[in-house]
Amino acid sequence: MSKPWDAIGIGAGIAGAAAARELSRAGRRVLVLDRETPGAEASGAAAGMLAPQIEATHDDAGLPLGLAARDCYPGLIQELAARGHPVAFHHSGILMVAFDAERVTALQAIIASQRGMGLDADWLDGAELRRRQPGAGPEALGAMLAPHDGSVDNIALCAALAADAAQHGAVLERAAVSEVVTRGSRVHGVRTAERLHEAPVVVLAAGAWSPLIEGLPRRLPIEPVRGQMAAVPWPKGLPRTVLFGRGAYVVPRGRDAVLGSTMESVGFDRSTTAEGLAHIRAETNRILPALAAAPLGRTWSGFRPLTPDHRPILGMDPDVAGLVYDTGHGRNGILLGPLCGRIVHDLIVQGETRWDLAPYRVTRF
Ligand SMILES: Cc1cc2nc3c(=O)[nH]c(=O)nc-3n(C[C@H](O)[C@H](O)[C@H](O)COP(=O)(O)OP(=O)(O)OC[C@H]3O[C@@H](n4cnc5c(N)ncnc54)[C@H](O)[C@@H]3O)c2cc1C
Repeated sequence: MSKPWDAIGIGAGIAGAAAARELSRAGRRVLVLDRETPGAEASGAAAGMLAPQIEATHDDAGLPLGLAARDCYPGLIQELAARGHPVAFHHSGILMVAFDAERVTALQAIIASQRGMGLDADWLDGAELRRRQPGAGPEALGAMLAPHDGSVDNIALCAALAADAAQHGAVLERAAVSEVVTRGSRVHGVRTAERLHEAPVVVLAAGAWSPLIEGLPRRLPIEPVRGQMAAVPWPKGLPRTVLFGRGAYVVPRGRDAVLGSTMESVGFDRSTTAEGLAHIRAETNRILPALAAAPLGRTWSGFRPLTPDHRPILGMDPDVAGLVYDTGHGRNGILLGPLCGRIVHDLIVQGETRWDLAPYRVTRF
């Protein structure tokens, strides 16, 4: 006999763990199935930046959701610490460095546009940048400062969300889900190699693997986009700040500088490559030249679950009652995960959310 679950989550990355925590806090009986340990995939591979304003320099489609997601963090980190799960978190700004005049102009235009929306964003010229980060490279002409962006220890956060969900009664089991099972126009549960688990609600949070699960009512256009990463010791004596260049970044975590990244469409090939790591090291050395002397430590890669418009897929399936999507978080899933978990909670527990989910609906493609 299956236990009478109220909801089953597929995946215990940040999306699944955050949703499970919210639902279990609301008294729902939740089963989370993951074939690995919580945070084993993209959520553990990530750099942990909470950067809606800096990411909007690439693409501002997700800015409102991203800003709200960033605002959730201080309260979440406090709640987790109070329950015995401390997680390193900082929200004292990210610097986006410009190395040529064209980039200076582009960043200054973005700052003006963000200020026009009532956001804090500043331009630092070369001298101001070096006062804030004396290690900044000689080619750096200045930087955009997004003073409220920041970073979190995403590895500790995934573990904390999963542990807190479990303390609230969620059950986390290690099993691969092969199929979402529907009956008529309702979700009925999920199938693993061992058995059928029944529940009236299934939350699909399997990251880049979401489209591979059978039984879904529609094709999910989520592609795995590999990001390679490396860690080196943080250079002695330099302030520990998050710095972004063009296509590369440096994030302090513990004693390390986490260096990233690449954006590669190579299927689920987990390799790191000499070429990818050389690109990361060259670009991050440009940002912070002291990194050049730092010995290479761990290297790894992860798969961003990317949709064609770079927005997540969030909300109820329109045809299969009880099937909820919380996936496709792309480059910003660490930022978005906790807020999306709350939205999933609102949809399931309250039957509605204050968010307009039209930009995120599964049928938009
Ligand atoms: C290199 C890199 C750097 C990044 N940096 C940042 C950053 O700085 N800031 C930011 O906000 N975002 C960042 N991201 C993006 C972010 O990591 C992802 O958007 C986010 O982690 C996605 O979370 P998820 O829970 O949906 O997916 P995942 O963390 O991939 O979790 C999916 C889970 O589902 C499980 N699963 C899959 N299939 C099945 C199945 N059939 N049955 C059971 N379990 C299954 C997997 O084992 C996995 O644990 C980065 C990503 C990468 C790769």
